[in-house]
Amino acid sequence: MPALQPFLEDLYDRYRDVSEGQLASYIPELTKANKDWFGISVVTTDGRIFGVGDVDQPFTIQSISKVFAYGLALEDRGRAVLLDKVGVEPTGDPFNSLIRLDEDSKRPFNPMINAGAIATTSLINGADPTGKLNRLLAMFERYLGHDVVIDMPTFMSERSTGHRNRAMAHLMLNFDMIAQDIDSALDLYFQQCSVMVNCQDLAVMAATLANQGRQPITGAQALERDYTRDLLSVMYTCGMYNRAGEWAYRVGIPAKSGVSGGIIAVVPGKAGIATFSPLIDKNGNSVRGLKVFEALSQEYGLHLFDLSMGRCVFTEALE
Ligand code: GLN
Repeated sequence: MPALQPFLEDLYDRYRDVSEGQLASYIPELTKANKDWFGISVVTTDGRIFGVGDVDQPFTIQSISKVFAYGLALEDRGRAVLLDKVGVEPTGDPFNSLIRLDEDSKRPFNPMINAGAIATTSLINGADPTGKLNRLLAMFERYLGHDVVIDMPTFMSERSTGHRNRAMAHLMLNFDMIAQDIDSALDLYFQQCSVMVNCQDLAVMAATLANQGRQPITGAQALERDYTRDLLSVMYTCGMYNRAGEWAYRVGIPAKSGVSGGIIAVVPGKAGIATFSPLIDKNGNSVRGLKVFEALSQEYGLHLFDLSMGRCVFTEALE
């Protein structure tokens, strides 16, 4: 079994020339990404960092933010309120699926699709929009261990073109599933999607979830320990949109992707893994990222239900 760092370098060489997929274009600003960007990062729960490629290249976090906003909303409102407004059921639908609110409850199906994420973000506490934004940014800073910035051009780009997301918010308002001030909720959602990260940051965030909410480098408790389970569960069942089932089958660890090309995945108790490559498939998942995760999972037996190699194989690779 290969040691991790050389294996990451091997994967980088193997997949760097894969040119399938497209840049996300429905948010105009995302078309400015470079198709060649490609990074792979692993951060362990004891704070060791491995990586290859463009791990320092900043990009907007997009949908990966949904996991962390869900954590903050849970801390603010508790499980009962969240479950009343947003379900935990996978849809098999695309991330921007418009009309599928649950027929009986009128809830969006889960917090990882856009409708559920907008409803979730609207539940974050704060006296006014600035107060809410500051709490959201403070939350990201706890995970990242450094200051965060919002990319204004991406925020404005999505704010002025995100009609589909706006329509979802109106529909949820119609069913009383979201508070009146939907413009502020949408702004906060677009802001959370425009938070700048790099691939290594994402691996640190994933490692924090692997470490029961404790940031492995700073030691800060970024998320109440109890809620880690909630986040990992919805990641496992809903994190990869209409590829969630196939991901669970092939890779078998909780994950979340975003249309800017990031994917995070969590090896519980051991490490956070992130990939970044902006060419995405029709489901909105990074093409090179999918390949890297399948290879990593196979090589090190990461699949949660794969006991054939024994659960210690990945730990050995980290030695
Ligand atoms: N901000 C994007 C949107 O709402 C996020 C989508 C994504 O990354 N899948 O459409």
